[in-house]
Amino acid sequence: MKKWECTVCGYIHEGDEPPEVCPICGAGKEYFTEVVSDTEAESTTQEVPAETTTTSPPAKKEVGGIAGLVLKFHLHPIMVHTPNGILPLALLFLVGTALFQIAGFELAAFYSLIFVLINMPAVIATGYLEWQNRYQGVKTGIFMVKIGASIVVTITLSALVVWRLITPDVMGSESKWVYVLIGLVMVGAAGIAGHLGGKLVFDTRKN
Ligand SMILES: [Zn+2]
Repeated sequence: MKKWECTVCGYIHEGDEPPEVCPICGAGKEYFTEVVSDTEAESTTQEVPAETTTTSPPAKKEVGGIAGLVLKFHLHPIMVHTPNGILPLALLFLVGTALFQIAGFELAAFYSLIFVLINMPAVIATGYLEWQNRYQGVKTGIFMVKIGASIVVTITLSALVVWRLITPDVMGSESKWVYVLIGLVMVGAAGIAGHLGGKLVFDTRKN
């Protein structure tokens, strides 16, 4: 059976034909190249230099500069731990504040939100570089949803910080559950972006 590799995300498909669209990243058929395994290549190409006979895809071009560093050191997966790790905690602090009016919780939530907001440009920039360089900037659904989710996170997060700056007592006011609700949307969007990112990174590694 033939093997086909998605050149966008690395997903391996087994079959005579490549799939119409990649089940992981959504890239079309044209992004698939046939993979010739080492053992197969050796058995069929004895005495002939391997390079001239394999149909495996050309080596991925080296990405230099800042984008190269971002990819090499996996800076996007590292950076996303800031929103994905801290925002759910901030939401828990907000719920705790809304229910029990604990001042320390309110302050912890506020500082957490500010910290993540400061990190968001780096999260988005590394994500953009990763998309353009590792995933060829393909405009398939999974990437569009990730971009949309990151926009929702940034807008809701900014709204929470600005609201708190304008109305320091927002969590003691009647609007506190609206504030918590915005936090819930924010965490949901961060969760979607994170889930899809995990799918791109881990679901391609099976087999
Ligand atoms: Zn793919």
